[in-house]
Parts: sequence; structure tokens; C-alpha cells
Amino acid sequence: MAFYVQKFGGTSVGTVERIAAVADKVKAFRDAGHDSVVVVSAMSGETNRLVSLANAVMEDPTPREMDVLLSTGEQVTIALLCMALNSRGCPAKSYTGSQVRITTDSTHTKARIQSIDEGNIRADIAAGNVVVVAGFQGVDELGNITTLGRGGSDTTAVALAAALKADECQIYTDVDGVYTTDPRVVDSARRLDKITFEEMIEMASLGSKVLQIRSVEFAGKYNVPLRVLSSFQDGPGTLITTEDTSEMEQPLVSGIAFNRDEAKVTIKGVPDIPGVASRILRPVSDANIEVDMIVQNTGDDNQTDFTFTVHRNDYKKAMAILEALQVELGARKVVGDTKIAKVSIVGVGMRSHAGVATKMFERLSKEGINIQMISTSEIKISVVIDEKYLELAVRSLHSAFELSGNSEL
Ligand code: ASP
Ligand code: MG
Repeated sequence: MAFYVQKFGGTSVGTVERIAAVADKVKAFRDAGHDSVVVVSAMSGETNRLVSLANAVMEDPTPREMDVLLSTGEQVTIALLCMALNSRGCPAKSYTGSQVRITTDSTHTKARIQSIDEGNIRADIAAGNVVVVAGFQGVDELGNITTLGRGGSDTTAVALAAALKADECQIYTDVDGVYTTDPRVVDSARRLDKITFEEMIEMASLGSKVLQIRSVEFAGKYNVPLRVLSSFQDGPGTLITTEDTSEMEQPLVSGIAFNRDEAKVTIKGVPDIPGVASRILRPVSDANIEVDMIVQNTGDDNQTDFTFTVHRNDYKKAMAILEALQVELGARKVVGDTKIAKVSIVGVGMRSHAGVATKMFERLSKEGINIQMISTSEIKISVVIDEKYLELAVRSLHSAFELSGNSEL
């Protein structure tokens, strides 16, 4: 007998027919003698609809009221799913976040879970119920409704799985697992049977949008085995878990992530003196602009070129800040480029292997692709290239690292 937390995302509960299909699945699982707590998102499109209603009423909607509004999406689906289960003769009880008592801090619209009172849920399960919990929401100490940030139902599911010590947290979604790369770019992209928490965090932060990144961090921290599966077709999905060190051979590279959301800005000919890097980044962070890659290079003329990447939406703001700094620091020039893309290879296997970067760079050069920036971590190598070569780069790296399973000739 197994005990799972099963989360169904917006598309999986997007219509009453789909809610009925989820009810069939949950009931079948229970009829097989297992227990489950089910977490659901709002019906697909519903949260966006509520956001636009709020924006139509007020320019910067009051965060507290935004949470009261957004939490209603999930309240609809928990009730409907329980009714569907009840109509199938399966006892089920719904809970909002505050009814469970999922306590969060008071940061409205991006609250963090602090504790979960699992007493009610345990009692209901012991009494033979399926418990259905609204994802994405909680309550602060004063009783205010909070939400966990977009995509936050994944985090609710993982947090419940950790608190209830479930055997597995299953995330049912519209894809059948985590792929070596986006199948829309590479036909031969393959579903991974397994990937580590660390790799998945890198993949998610680098642009693979299967799971909310916070949920993966949470699962890694509490060691909750996480499985991504399709709600529409049967299959094993992808298990996200700790590294299996008993495995003789780790794949060098597990996946390729990419994103087109970044832009690059450079301030050239800055005097090379202590404190310059922080003076450049201070106004950037004060403007709440997140910086991703940073490259600084000092020439032999006591001058430095300083380049970094930001989200494309922040490009104009970042350029304006650098232009002001140019005057202030006596720098030579400020340049920027929005037509860039970042491509990253990710794999725990590269930790113990030399030559992965060489192989990556050789392959890109063979395709005539110029590398503009490089950054690495223990299990990842990212490059910034011209946006127009993105697909070519992803395809050729996918084949160079033999990710489709057919080795290259
Ligand atoms: N309904 C929320 C959203 O659309 C939470 C979720 O789906 O995970 O972001
Ligand atoms: Mg969602």
C-alpha cells in the first residue's frame, strides 16, 4: 500500500470532463488500496482571468486583496473534484489552504510556507476519505489569505508530501515527463526516466518550465521523491530524486536548457580599481533588476570591460543605469544587445569528467557559432550566443552529447 500526494495542474482540471477524468484516476488509485492527498490548481486560464479583472479595477492591485481574489480559483476546483468523487461513491473532503492551516509568512502574492498542520488531513484519511487540498494558498498568523506565487500549487504538493511523509509526490501535467530538451526544438528529445534534484533545479532555472523551481528546491531539501507524469496518458513519467552514487556510469550531460528571455549590456573602458564592480551593480540591484551572468575582463591598459545579462524586460532600465554610470565613472562606452540566447548543458556527470566544456565549444565552433559569454557551475555550462543560432546550437549539442540515445557517427 502506497501513500502519495497527487497534484493535478490547470489543464488537467480545465473542464468538467477533465475533472471527471481526474476523479476516475484518483478513485482507481484508492480502489487499489492506496491512500492519497490530492492537490489541484485552478482551471486553466482562471488565474490569468482573475489577474486581469484585478488590473481592470486598479493599476497596482492591493496585494492582500489580490490574494483573496486569486485563491478563489483553486477553491472552485477542490469543490468540483470532491463532488465528482462523491458522485462515484468515493468519500472525499475538500480543504482550502487556511482550512488545513498551511501557515505562511505575510508576503502577499509570494508567501513562503512556514508550517503545515497535518492533523485534520490525517484524521480524514484514517476515516477513509480522499483529501483534496487547494494548491497555491495559505494563511498567515493573523488569518490573512496568502498565495505562493504563480505556479505555486507544485510547492503546496511538495510541502504536503514532506509534512505527511508521503512515499512520493506526483505532479500530473500535460507533458509525460522531463525531456532531454524541448521536443519542439529537437524531434529526437527523449523523456528522462530519472533526473537529480540538482539537475532539475538547473533545468528549471534555465528555462525548462515543467515545474515551479521552488517546489524542486523544497523537494530536494526534504528529500521528497518527485515524479512528473501526464494526466492524459499512462506512463512512468520522470522521477526526480537524489543522485544514485551506486550507478557505475552517470550520463555526462542529462539535458539541454535554453532561454531567449535575456539581454546583454556592457560598460567598456571602466578604470580598473577596487570597488568598480560593486559600484556598477549597486544601482542595478537597487532598481530591483536581477543579474544573471557576469563577465569582467581587464586589459593591460588598466581598464576593464564589464558585461552582464538581465531579463529582456529590464534591458532599457539597465542601459539607462549604465549610461549614467558611464559619465560618473569616466567609462568609454556602453553597448547592449537584446538578440541573444542562452544555451546550457546540465549534468551531474560532468562533475567528475574533464573535457565537457571543450567538447561543447568544439561543437559550437564546428557549426560556426560564436560564443559571446560563458559561465559554469559544477554541473552546468552556459553560453550566450546570437539568438538566430539558438535552435542550431541546441540540436547540435543534443547530438554531440548523444542525448537521443543513438550515438553519433
Ligand atoms: N493557479 C495558480 C497559477 O496559475 C497556481 C498554479 O497553477 O500552480 O499560477
Ligand atoms: Mg499551473
